[in-house]
Amino acid sequence: MSYASRTSHLKPEGAYQVLARAHELEASGRKIIHLEIGQPDYETFDNIRLAGIRAIAEGHTRYTPPIGMRSLREVIAEDAGKRHGLQIHPDQVVVSPGAKPNLFFPALALIEPGDEVIYPDPGFPTYEAMIRLAGGIPVPVPLREENGFSFDLDVFYRLAGEQTRLVILNSPSNPTGGVMPLVDLKEIAAAAHKYNFWVMSDEIYSRVAYCQAGVPSIASLPGMMDRTIIVDGFSKTYAMTGWRLGYGIMPKSLAQVVQLLLTHSVGCTANFVQIAGIEALTGPQDQVEAVVAEYQKRRDAMVDGLNAIDGITCRCPQGAFYVFPNIKSFGISSSEMADFILEKASVAVLPGSSFGKYGEGYLRLTYSNSIENILQAIQQIGDVLSEQLQVVRN
Ligand code: PMP
Repeated sequence: MSYASRTSHLKPEGAYQVLARAHELEASGRKIIHLEIGQPDYETFDNIRLAGIRAIAEGHTRYTPPIGMRSLREVIAEDAGKRHGLQIHPDQVVVSPGAKPNLFFPALALIEPGDEVIYPDPGFPTYEAMIRLAGGIPVPVPLREENGFSFDLDVFYRLAGEQTRLVILNSPSNPTGGVMPLVDLKEIAAAAHKYNFWVMSDEIYSRVAYCQAGVPSIASLPGMMDRTIIVDGFSKTYAMTGWRLGYGIMPKSLAQVVQLLLTHSVGCTANFVQIAGIEALTGPQDQVEAVVAEYQKRRDAMVDGLNAIDGITCRCPQGAFYVFPNIKSFGISSSEMADFILEKASVAVLPGSSFGKYGEGYLRLTYSNSIENILQAIQQIGDVLSEQLQVVRN
C-alpha cells in the first residue's frame, strides 16, 4: 500500500518505541524502571480535577469557539502578560487541545514550500516533522553542551539569513533541560529584525525551572511580540498531559488564521477541559511550587548519581525534568547504549540520537520519578556500565 508522500518522513517518537520494548520485558516478568517518558508522575491537582468534574455535571459539554472560550483566553492573557511583562490582548490567545496544535498550525500558516526553518538539535521531534509537512526545509542548529545546551551561535549566524522564515526556540529544552541565556536571545532577536523572520518560542517548561531569576523569553525583548508565537500549555505545569490543553500567543491576524486551521481540523478544545484550565490558572499555585522544589531534589540526586559513574559526565540542567548525560567515552552509539541499559540494567532511557543527529553521544533520562527509583536506577546503570567500561578499555 502506498500513502501520500508528504507523510513518508514521519517517524514515531523514540519514547514510544522504548516503552513498547520495556512493556515486552515487563510481560516476561522483568521489573523495569521507567525514565523514558516525559510527563509528570503526579496526579492533576485536586482543585483542577474537581473543576473538570463539576463542569461536566453542569453541562459544559458543547462546542466552544474554535479559538477557545473568551473567559479562558482572558485569564491566559493576564497570566502570560504578568509573566512576560507585556500587555497581551485575549484576541492574541489561541487555545488548543494540547500545545502541539499551536506548534503545528502556526507553522502551517507561516511556512511556504522551500522556506528555511531553523530549529534546535537535539530537539523535540515534532519540530522537524511539522516543518517537513509544511514543505519547509529543516535547518538544525546544534546545541552546545559547554554553553549549557543553548544554541551554537556561530553556526546560527552562518545559517540565518533572508531565506529564514522561522526560528524555533525551546527553553527550558526537551531533551537537554538547558535554559537559553538572555544574551543569546538578544542575538537571535537582533537577527530576527535584520532578516525579518518569525520566532516560535516553545515555553511549555517555563514554570518547571530552577533558576532564581526565572526563564527569560525572547517575546519580552523590544518589538519581538510582533513576530513571535509563544507556545505554552497545562500538560507539564499542572500535570494535565491527558486532558489536552495548551495555547499559543501571537499577533491577532495570525491568531485568526490559526483559528481557521483549528475550525477545519479539531473544531475546538473540549469545553469542560477549558473550564478546568481557568481553575488551574486562577486557583492556588503553591502546589506547582512544591512540585518544582521536589523535582529539583530529584534532579540533584540524578545528576550527582550519574556523575559518580565512571565514563559519564552530566551537566546540571536549569529546567524541565530531563538530564542529558554525555556517554561518548564508552565508544558506542547512544541507541546501542540505551538498548544495553534497558536489557542489562532494566532501566528505560532514551538515546540522544532520537532527538536529532547532534544528540548522538548522549542519553535522555527523565527524573519525574521517585527518589528511590532514581537511586535504584543509577545503581543498576552504574553496575552494568562499570563492566562495559572494562570491556572497552581492555
Ligand atoms: N513542546 C515540548 C518541548 C514538549 O516536550 C511537549 C510534550 N512532550 C510539547 C511541546 C507538547 O505538549 P502538549 O502535551 O501540551 O501537547
